Amino acid sequence: MKLLTIVVPCYNEEPALPLFYDEISRTMDDFKNTDSEVEFELLFIDDGSKDGTLNVIKQLREKDERVHYVSFSRNFGKEAGIYAGLENSHGDYVVIMDADLQDPPSLLPEMYKAVALEGYDSAATRRVTRKGEPPVRSFFARRFYRIMNRMTDLEIMDGARDYRIMTRTMVNAVLDMKEYNRFTKGIYSWVGFKTKWFDYENRERVAGETKWNFWKLLLYSIEGFVGFTTAPLTFAALIGLFFTFFSFVMIVFIIVRTLIFGDPTSGWPSMICIIVFLGGVQLFCLGVAGEYIAKMYLETKNRPIYIAREKE
Ligand code: UDP
Ligand code: MG
Repeated sequence: MKLLTIVVPCYNEEPALPLFYDEISRTMDDFKNTDSEVEFELLFIDDGSKDGTLNVIKQLREKDERVHYVSFSRNFGKEAGIYAGLENSHGDYVVIMDADLQDPPSLLPEMYKAVALEGYDSAATRRVTRKGEPPVRSFFARRFYRIMNRMTDLEIMDGARDYRIMTRTMVNAVLDMKEYNRFTKGIYSWVGFKTKWFDYENRERVAGETKWNFWKLLLYSIEGFVGFTTAPLTFAALIGLFFTFFSFVMIVFIIVRTLIFGDPTSGWPSMICIIVFLGGVQLFCLGVAGEYIAKMYLETKNRPIYIAREKE
């Protein structure tokens, strides 16, 4: 017998949960019919929802003993939800799946086959289209993946979803990464292992609305950079080096010019431009360094990744 844990991070998913449960129980039944060697555990992570999500989960638990849950003391974010899910799972294999049915359960049998029979450690999914997404967001998302893949040794798949199945070995490896600032896509790539990719078309969520906006995504992408590469620090140092060298050349140039042509006072506006420009560059570099210091500060506090209020 193999146990398959399905981890479902939920934040204000009251309208979507019943639809999700219907669909996932159909998938689990189909599984049973084709492969009777699999047992299921449905683990809902209530990420401090402000609506009736927890009640819906409790109702599901009453009628279905495969249902378990962890409920947070407040909203900790999806990354914390994923961590809690992995930590509280018992399965030989663990799947992470959104509650809004944007991650099609119908892919699950194929994904399971990849890890159970084909020798992969993980099967992950990615969207091949960004249909239904604002074009500006798609543009910046693409840029982000390009830069990220260039600046780090990691390979982070463009359009990768969090929908993924993993073996126990890989789950334990992910759990060993106890950082407070979690960028799970980077973590998956960092721990390595053999991953099989499945493509699918983007689909709209069944009910409720997305928790992301442009600002949140921007902050999340900075998390990705700061968490997995120190290239911005090197970049800042290189800019400094460049301007130091450049200023030497300028000094020599101006001395020579003054000796040959005298010193008429001019160039006031250009001087201001240069000062403002360099001031900007300095603040930028300081900000980059500050970003790393801020993350270090948070990491050294060693705060828990999530706090559970109740679990069942
Ligand atoms: N989610 C969560 N905590 C949060 C935000 C989101 O657990 O703070 C869950 C949410 O309930 C959903 C999944 O993460 O199951 C994906 O969220 P969403 O659909 O808003 O993201 P998108 O699919 O638009 O990337
Ligand atoms: Mg969604």
